Amino acid sequence: MAEQQSDNNNLISCRVCGVIMVKIAKDICPKCFKAEEELFAKIKNFLRANPGASISQVAEYCDCTEDAVHAFIKSGRLERVGLRRIAHQCELCNTTIYEGVMCADCKKKLKDQVKQLRSMNPQQN
Ligand SMILES: [Zn+2]
Ligand SMILES: [Zn+2]
Repeated sequence: MAEQQSDNNNLISCRVCGVIMVKIAKDICPKCFKAEEELFAKIKNFLRANPGASISQVAEYCDCTEDAVHAFIKSGRLERVGLRRIAHQCELCNTTIYEGVMCADCKKKLKDQVKQLRSMNPQQN
């Protein structure tokens, strides 16, 4: 992404299309915000009708990138509307999972690692 230099802190660039705009509550311009809302509604409806669909199916049907679908999963937005069944990859081992960003195995491993770290530094508990 091109570096934006501005003396005016009230100006930001839209994270989607890069247009320079006055900073409002979001880091996205009204046009892209509307497009994103429409896409989200489309994805939501598709997943309601097709629980467990994969990201690539969603992207194909909704005519968007897989990254866009992934962004909704990562932000927890789909989970918040009760859509927890979408096939995507664990961030660590690429196993197919249906909710969250990590598979159960990786979650457990991570937990064990944290536990281990804690037992090495018991006073920090
Ligand atoms: Zn924009
Ligand atoms: Zn994993």
